[in-house]
Amino acid sequence: QDRQSGDLLVRRLSTSGQTVILASRSAASLQAQIANGSHYLWSQALLIGLAGAILTLLVYPRQSSSRRVLERALHSGQMFLLYQPVVDLQSGQCIGAEALMRWRQQDGSTLGPDVFIPLAEQLQLSDRISDCACQIIARELPALLQRVPDFHISVNVSAQELNTFAIVQRLVELRQRLRLQPSQLIAELTESSLAEAERALPVIRQLRANGISVAIDDFGTGYCSLSYLATYPFDILKIDKSFVSAAGTDSIIGPIAEHIVTLSKSLGVAALAEGIETPEQAENFRRQGVALAQGYYFGAPMPMAQLLERVQGPAQS
Ligand code: C2E
Ligand code: CA
Ligand code: CA
Repeated sequence: QDRQSGDLLVRRLSTSGQTVILASRSAASLQAQIANGSHYLWSQALLIGLAGAILTLLVYPRQSSSRRVLERALHSGQMFLLYQPVVDLQSGQCIGAEALMRWRQQDGSTLGPDVFIPLAEQLQLSDRISDCACQIIARELPALLQRVPDFHISVNVSAQELNTFAIVQRLVELRQRLRLQPSQLIAELTESSLAEAERALPVIRQLRANGISVAIDDFGTGYCSLSYLATYPFDILKIDKSFVSAAGTDSIIGPIAEHIVTLSKSLGVAALAEGIETPEQAENFRRQGVALAQGYYFGAPMPMAQLLERVQGPAQS
């Protein structure tokens, strides 16, 4: 800063010892520029802040309102279960069922789980879904257990739920309440949920230690490496319906189902073929020695009243 004028200078000493001035700027104009710049920065910061606030105001109520709607649906009885028969492929008997959730809308239409399960996961409400499913099962299953005491029931468990032991507690309570024998209650976990959850292994061990069987759902579609099969103890391998429908065709994935059956045998776990739609598919898997099957050919997901009729109907006897 030049002592006399107060201006700001950029100086360089030349080799001859003389001062060469490269630039000078009056201090007053520089201060004015700094003031201008800070005004600009402040207005930018204000604009960004305002945009953030508006976004929060727009998105948060939407999230919290879908949360309220889903929570209300969960405790006001808008959720209900359909049960899809699981058959013993060798005898053809219905030995169990998978509980599949539906959401009844106010206009009478029904929303499928493909829509609300991901929403529940996003809103961290997965445990409320399984809690609701367990409550409905506790209410509806006793009528069926009276007629078929060793009936199996499968419940779907979300990836999020494998991070705490709450699901173990919930399923143990259900098992005790219905006086189910070991392996009558089955927790279905997808392969990808095993990859996502850090605490899946201790949770699975606890489930099994408490007499709850574990099924790997949609096998072959997740990110699970084969080494996971050795890491995670489980009881049932559910062959995904995409491989079941491709089996016996000349599709590139045609032979996969057969390989999964071989794999289940070498692991010593039961295989379940999902999505069986034709008698040919049923016969194909029966011939391969697959123990269990599920699919529209044996029955689409149905209300408990219909399942009751089915297990005591003429087909069963
Ligand atoms: P998932 O566990 O693989 O259930 C089987 C799905 O395949 C069901 O669809 C069922 O209706 C359908 N399906 C059964 N047989 C056949 C068939 O022969 N052909 C064809 N094309 N499809 C068949 P849904 O009921 O729409 O369930 C979709 C998924 O939603 C389930 O897949 C499961 O991952 C999830 N989900 C359902 N209920 C619950 C629940 O209570 N909790 C959780 N966490 N997930 C659930
Ligand atoms: Ca399932
Ligand atoms: Ca499945």
